[in-house]
Amino acid sequence: MNRDAIPVRPDIRCDVLVVGGGAAGFGAAVAAGRAGLQTVLAEAGPKIGGVMSFCPGMPWGGGYPCGEIIGGLIAELTDRLAAQSPPAAETRPCALANFGPEIVYDPDLAQIAMFEMLEEAGVRIHLNTTVTAPRMAGARIESLRLNDRHGAAVVRPAIVLDCSGDGDISAQAGVPYEVGDASGRMMGVTLSFLLVNAPWDTVFAEGDPYFTRHAERGVAAGRLHPDLSRIYLMKGFHRDTVFCNSVVIRGVDGTQPAEIARATQEGRKRCRALVAFLRDEVPGFANAWMTNLGPTVGVRETRKLHGQHRLTGAEVRAAKRFADGIVACANPIDDVMRGDGAMTHDAAVAEATWYTLPFQTTL
Ligand SMILES: Cc1cc2nc3c(=O)[nH]c(=O)nc-3n(C[C@H](O)[C@H](O)[C@H](O)COP(=O)(O)OP(=O)(O)OC[C@H]3O[C@@H](n4cnc5c(N)ncnc54)[C@H](O)[C@@H]3O)c2cc1C
Repeated sequence: MNRDAIPVRPDIRCDVLVVGGGAAGFGAAVAAGRAGLQTVLAEAGPKIGGVMSFCPGMPWGGGYPCGEIIGGLIAELTDRLAAQSPPAAETRPCALANFGPEIVYDPDLAQIAMFEMLEEAGVRIHLNTTVTAPRMAGARIESLRLNDRHGAAVVRPAIVLDCSGDGDISAQAGVPYEVGDASGRMMGVTLSFLLVNAPWDTVFAEGDPYFTRHAERGVAAGRLHPDLSRIYLMKGFHRDTVFCNSVVIRGVDGTQPAEIARATQEGRKRCRALVAFLRDEVPGFANAWMTNLGPTVGVRETRKLHGQHRLTGAEVRAAKRFADGIVACANPIDDVMRGDGAMTHDAAVAEATWYTLPFQTTL
């Protein structure tokens, strides 16, 4: 036998293949499984959650219409965590203008709960498994490959749900798309971490969510990268922990693995410098230490697929509610360090109103 030959596994048949186990893939797989469909979820990484697991502790939401969650699987997950003893999630106001309330949670317990919900729905989970090579039969995907370190299998699903975050499979299948803004510039990527042993009463005593006074000093002294002239720090789920989502690396193409690796290493260095600065210079951090440094940067933006409906800025600003609306939202428009631009969170709609995202944008 040729020891280098990759073993080929039997074909996998299922009703639904969900590509990617981020928030979207998690929800899609649970819903499909509960509907009685044979569902396979393939996730390239070792965890469920996507960006949520790359940036452990990232709050959920921030854009509920008028402060209310209408429902859905993330609401169910939140309720499940909040009902634990002690509670593993709670809703808090966001410290930033234009954002609604957000859900903070214990990321490890959330990981366990998401797996339970997938198991209960009968979903077959393949971790560390990358889906590639869609083979087309006309406009339909006939088969794809599931690849892991032990080999590859061909999967022939009736329905493919591309929840890869960057339209990986759709792009390979020929769906048209564009990348970034009109000039192809994408938003910055972020490496996050958590600080423990940072007493909230001292840390947040000044009330500035951006710690501007300290951050500007750090930049002027050459201790912090110039993009850290505002450091957004928020309370973590557990008392006296602080979540940092502020280390942003610009000009990274999130579809290119080598660029992601380079940005992650650059991010690690900036996180280390930031923690040293906080410990030395900012009240409350003297005895804090870093934990939960993300395994990779979180990518905000790559491909924008052309769906059957393409949502426009004008529709969002007009707070349009579509007949086939599947998500109601009042979120501000986030624009984070695109090219040499700043970080902005401008309100998209007037207060106390909201827009919906039409189902046709996803087809
Ligand atoms: C830095 C940052 C901060 C953010 N802050 C917030 C916030 O505070 N609150 C909030 O609500 N939202 C926030 N967001 C947005 C939120 O993270 C995204 O909207 C959400 O993660 C999108 O979920 P998703 O499942 O579509 O994609 P992702 O989370 O990107 O998940 C995609 C998954 O697909 C997998 N995958 C990709 N290709 C393949 C393949 N070929 N085969 C198998 N698996 C594959 C990936 O490994 C990944 O796990 C933030 C995003 C970033 C990057």
